[in-house]
Amino acid sequence: MSKTDHSELRQAIIATCLKMSELGINHGTSGNVSARIPEGLLITPSGMAYDSIRPADIVLIDHEGSYEGRRVPSTEWRFHYDIMRERPDINAIVHNHALHCTTLACLRMEIPAFHYMIAVAGGDSVRVADYARFGTQELSDNALRALEGRTACLLANHGMIALGADLGKALGLAVEIENLASCYWRCLQVTRPAILTTAQIDEVLVRIASYGKQPEEMAPGQMPATEAPPRRLAS
Ligand code: 13P
Ligand code: ZN
Repeated sequence: MSKTDHSELRQAIIATCLKMSELGINHGTSGNVSARIPEGLLITPSGMAYDSIRPADIVLIDHEGSYEGRRVPSTEWRFHYDIMRERPDINAIVHNHALHCTTLACLRMEIPAFHYMIAVAGGDSVRVADYARFGTQELSDNALRALEGRTACLLANHGMIALGADLGKALGLAVEIENLASCYWRCLQVTRPAILTTAQIDEVLVRIASYGKQPEEMAPGQMPATEAPPRRLAS
């Protein structure tokens, strides 16, 4: 496969799928993954076991919504296509049926600001998209609404979606949201957890934007994640 076939990205999509299974956030043929390319997007084929997907099975969907490849694309190609069109900051999308996200989604319960890390998805909650049958335009419309100002959402009676600037970030966010869902579900076994205020989450949103960045990677005037101790030059 030549470079113009995006062979590395096809491999990376497969690796992301396998990693989801390895991490236990997905199972069987559930879930799907896509990544942006100049011609449109690349997406996993429908209904194939992840360990049997080969690079040539990954499907190309162009800007007009037509597909190219030897397999039919994921049944959820509509929300991948619509999110890529509506969210130019997003280059990768991960969808799965992770246990705790799906549990909350079946209860139609959003994840509130019970933990500061909720801010990694862009706001003070991870919303639940209204129910619609899998693979429908209605599900895509509902998901887009739930994703407004956010990079993750739950899908009622179905699963979750996580977005990222690249595949690693989308997968990392999916793992974080599943961890939050699991923690929230555990809290609920005892009682309702304390919820952070809007002001507390707003503060976190400002700080978390530079989390993990080195000083030279930050924009001028950007607030650091926290005040680092004074730096001593090595003697
Ligand atoms: P596909 O195998 O068609 O991607 O479907 C899996 C899924 O999770 C549908 O929502
Ligand atoms: Zn699904």
